[in-house]
Amino acid sequence: MDKFIVSARKYRPQTFDTVVGQSHITTTLKNAIKNNQLAHAFLFCGPRGVGKTTCARILAKTINCLNLQPDGEACDTCSSCKSFNDGASLNIHELDAASNNSVDDIRQLVEQVRFAPQAGKYKIYIVDEVHMLSASAFNAFLKTLEEPPSYAIFILATTEKHKILPTILSRCQIFDFKRITNNDTAQHLQEIVDKEHIKADKASLQIIAQKSEGCMRDALSILDKIVSFTNGEVNYQNTIDNLNILDHDYYFKLLSSLQQQDLASALLLYNEINSKGFEGDTVLNGFAEFLRNILVCKDPKAAQLLDVVEGMQEKYFATATTTNASYLVAALNILNDAEMGYKMARNKKLHVEFALIKLNFLQQAIDLTVDNGQIVKKKRIDGAVAISYKPIKSVGQPLTPKGEQKIVPQAAVLKIESDVNVQSLKVEEPELKHITAQQFNNTTPTAKLQTQEKPATKNESLTSTGKKDLLSILKQKAGDKYIVQEVREAEPIELEKLQSCIAQYIAELEKTGGKITTVNNFRMAVVTIENDISFKMMVPTLTASRTIDQERTMFLDLIKKTFNNPAISFAVEVDESDAIEIEVPKFSNSRERYEYIASLYPMVRELKETLKLDVS
Ligand SMILES: [Zn+2]
Repeated sequence: MDKFIVSARKYRPQTFDTVVGQSHITTTLKNAIKNNQLAHAFLFCGPRGVGKTTCARILAKTINCLNLQPDGEACDTCSSCKSFNDGASLNIHELDAASNNSVDDIRQLVEQVRFAPQAGKYKIYIVDEVHMLSASAFNAFLKTLEEPPSYAIFILATTEKHKILPTILSRCQIFDFKRITNNDTAQHLQEIVDKEHIKADKASLQIIAQKSEGCMRDALSILDKIVSFTNGEVNYQNTIDNLNILDHDYYFKLLSSLQQQDLASALLLYNEINSKGFEGDTVLNGFAEFLRNILVCKDPKAAQLLDVVEGMQEKYFATATTTNASYLVAALNILNDAEMGYKMARNKKLHVEFALIKLNFLQQAIDLTVDNGQIVKKKRIDGAVAISYKPIKSVGQPLTPKGEQKIVPQAAVLKIESDVNVQSLKVEEPELKHITAQQFNNTTPTAKLQTQEKPATKNESLTSTGKKDLLSILKQKAGDKYIVQEVREAEPIELEKLQSCIAQYIAELEKTGGKITTVNNFRMAVVTIENDISFKMMVPTLTASRTIDQERTMFLDLIKKTFNNPAISFAVEVDESDAIEIEVPKFSNSRERYEYIASLYPMVRELKETLKLDVS
């Protein structure tokens, strides 16, 4: 039987050039070797299985090579290289810190460092999983790491750089290894299967690369496994069977049933998947990944992130054009929630089904919101009723300055505030713009409208009888979709009105059971008007001013409403004219001050004497 096993060991790279996906590191190392600028301590960080140990071994071999190639690679033929390749070299020491993490292990290593190499130039110490060393082991290592003998080189490797002490980090040259891309992995696998004369299609190798998630060691052992299971005939189907990967066709089917809101087929499909041995979380996760891939296809720029088997791309792109992004995003959200809750769910199958039910009706929910949005848009565009605010021009007198005798009552200008553009309405009577709305007078007695031709006088009502008034036309035109409201112009503060306002507030306070002191303080306050929009309240005490301040919001609200003026403000001041002043003598030094205080409070003197204090 010709049983064949591809092993990660057999295809472990022997030169820098054959290391997959880490050219940024291998190039740097080669240059350092060529220029003889090697550091004495290296830290190789990165995920597992990306070639950290491999690079460390290649580095060890290369710097000991007796016949270094001009490109910085080892010759692979000299005695030193051969002994390295056979694993027989005495110049390389590997310590697995995961299992040898005590101080003694490190001491042993440090002991060895003292001896110069018998043959070759360098002795290389590789400490794998260095983050596992105990704190005392780290400390025992520090001194040697800082000042190693010229022939010693340390290569520390770790998957968890953040766990390394800063004192170690600062002594090492740090190299960050990258996760190997799926393409690189697939290409490497392809080279191996070609060398080994294994039949393997591209899709299966890509699936293996995806499954290994950037870890070459995993990829190779997966390939080993599948090759031995399939007698060297690797194809898409037996690969996904072996790796327990759900065929993407299922996801395509699932998505299409969900989009057609065919819940029955979606649930049946899930049942079928489940009976094949795929757990709910695998399905949720797989479906989420699938939707992510579809979403990525929606934008040509992002499409390079599409991580699927070759030959499948077209199907993804086609599905992307028929699926809208909002559905995908919402669906991903639901799947994410479902995945997070999966562990806690008591009935796992029901949990996944529940997520599918949500996904099934998701399209409907999205349609609904989208439709609503469109209706709103349509209205705005069709009716040319863009938000507008059309005041009717006033020719009334300006506001009468404060204190002057008013001859004409203060003119309030009527404004019509609505979503409706007045000019867009077709009005039959041209005189309409001069019409005043008498009913406005009914609702707001202070509001008067003045026309351009006829300035308003006190008692004149300006309705042109027999003609439709503007408001009713507006109402008729716009239906009750728009709120047509009248706006009064702001009034300046006026003392009489203000006082009645305060009285009203006091009455309100009394009615609602406010504190009697508050009521009294309001009563006591002396009100003076500062200007059109501010006034002052004088109260005798600080407490009184505070109680009024506590009522500020409500009180000011009432005033603003009364004068229809949101700009109004007021200040509360304490009238200090009759406050009692306590005479405090002035002191020229602290002793005088002490004497004064002591004369008032004899206890102070006693305290000073008892504690033997000094007055400086
Ligand atoms: Zn060599």
